Amino acid sequence: MTPRIPAFLSSIALACGLAIAVSAAQAAPDAALLAAAEKAQPALVDNLKEMVLVESGSLNSDGLMKMADITEARLKALGFKTQRIKTASGAPAEIVVGTLKGTGKRKVMMQAHMDTVYPDGILKTQGWRVDTPGNRIYGPGIADDKGGIALILASLKILGDAGWKDFDTLTVVFNTDEEVGSGASGELIATTAEQQDYVLSFEPTLAKAFTKAKGEPVLLGAAGTAQATLDVKGRASHAGAAPELGRNALYELSHQILQTRDVAKDIPGVALNWTVATATGPINQITEKAQALGDIRITQPGAEKKLEAALQAKIAGSKLIPDTETTVKVQTNRPAFLAGEKGLAVAKKAQDIYKEIDREMTFVPMTGGGTDAGFAGRSGKPAVVESFGIAGFGYHAKDEYIEIDSIVPRIYLTTRLLQELGKQ
Ligand SMILES: [Zn+2]
Repeated sequence: MTPRIPAFLSSIALACGLAIAVSAAQAAPDAALLAAAEKAQPALVDNLKEMVLVESGSLNSDGLMKMADITEARLKALGFKTQRIKTASGAPAEIVVGTLKGTGKRKVMMQAHMDTVYPDGILKTQGWRVDTPGNRIYGPGIADDKGGIALILASLKILGDAGWKDFDTLTVVFNTDEEVGSGASGELIATTAEQQDYVLSFEPTLAKAFTKAKGEPVLLGAAGTAQATLDVKGRASHAGAAPELGRNALYELSHQILQTRDVAKDIPGVALNWTVATATGPINQITEKAQALGDIRITQPGAEKKLEAALQAKIAGSKLIPDTETTVKVQTNRPAFLAGEKGLAVAKKAQDIYKEIDREMTFVPMTGGGTDAGFAGRSGKPAVVESFGIAGFGYHAKDEYIEIDSIVPRIYLTTRLLQELGKQ
């Protein structure tokens, strides 16, 4: 593991405009943008603190509404037209969508989520805490994903103040249910993203302890999730008096679970595990109905559809209990995300921009955790890249934190990349 650069060294390097250590092959940094990124850090941290101190678990409607108030007000102050879209499922909440018209050609969307995984009351035991003289700030949701929101807002402020208009439209989406699968926002993200040239998604990026590079990565792939439902209908009968008249749905379900357990192994990009089974009782009755649920992970877009067809064929091919009826269906929850060629081209641009400030960027090809980049990339139309957020760790766990010295590089990256994408 590469030792991390001490925070004081990198901040000195940044303060010096990185004249040192920039090789001839690298473009010099945009000094004005870098200075603006440094200047923006305190305000970004203040905004982040304001948001971390709002508890906004995915089921906390009040907190999510407060988050919508804060983020919408910021977008309005930046000149965006805003819309609040009520969620049709899950906790009552409002997704915030902002749009800004420019004078250029490209349509760029930025997304981050306002909900966190934490239960109400979390701030009593895990509050906002700045680790001085260390490099961390702690707080629930600080990296995942309030850091992403604060970063988007700070970057847009810098570009707005600089009079940047070299885009057709900027669209910002802050949703409310990412941590519970984006059931209420996924469709909106997918259909909004479909109209874009580029989508930058601002989930957190990895803290230094977990990357070997001298800098923070971006993410080029994330597993999608789906659910398989296997239903068997049999015939009820008294288990003591007339078992032979029954058709045991539980036996048939067991047969089908076992005979389908390896079906996914022949299909690239998808994995299936049957994880839940239920059956009607009572105990003295031959089982009339039984059901199993399977967890599906997708690493190639569309592989779950192939799995569904293969499951159906397997089930049609063999039955243990005559006269039972078995059906199987696969429901996609979150599509898999694969950046592909288009996304990779954007990631390479990001990598070049990072080089300007003497920072390395690696690409993480695939993660097991799903993200909204899957919805954003569903149509295959825009170029999508994930994890432009602030570096951190401990999300979905305890003592979540961000790394302070990733803030300025991430602002610089976002603002420079937006300028580059706008120009294309
Ligand atoms: Zn997240």
